[in-house]
Amino acid sequence: MTESEFAALDADPPAWLRQSRENRTGKRPVWVELRCDVCGFTETARPKKWWPAGVIEHGAYLSCDFHGADELPDPPPGMSRTEVDGIGSRFIAMVDAPA
Ligand SMILES: [Zn+2]
Repeated sequence: MTESEFAALDADPPAWLRQSRENRTGKRPVWVELRCDVCGFTETARPKKWWPAGVIEHGAYLSCDFHGADELPDPPPGMSRTEVDGIGSRFIAMVDAPA
């Protein structure tokens, strides 16, 4: 690649290069996959700042908002569960934390 070719690419980057730059600088949030731990329904969503820790890292249970709470395993002994709804279009996050 010559210097002038590089300059042209830099001034008018193709879509893949623009996307990878935006992901790197953190200007545009990445997409995450949400998956229901009861029925396996998946949805791709943009992460929100207010989501509790564990949702993006898959450290919290997720369930569709129409499943019963008894369809997921109980929190481990000594942990208490907080339900946070409104994740994506239909998910509730179950966040377990020391009681
Ligand atoms: Zn489900």
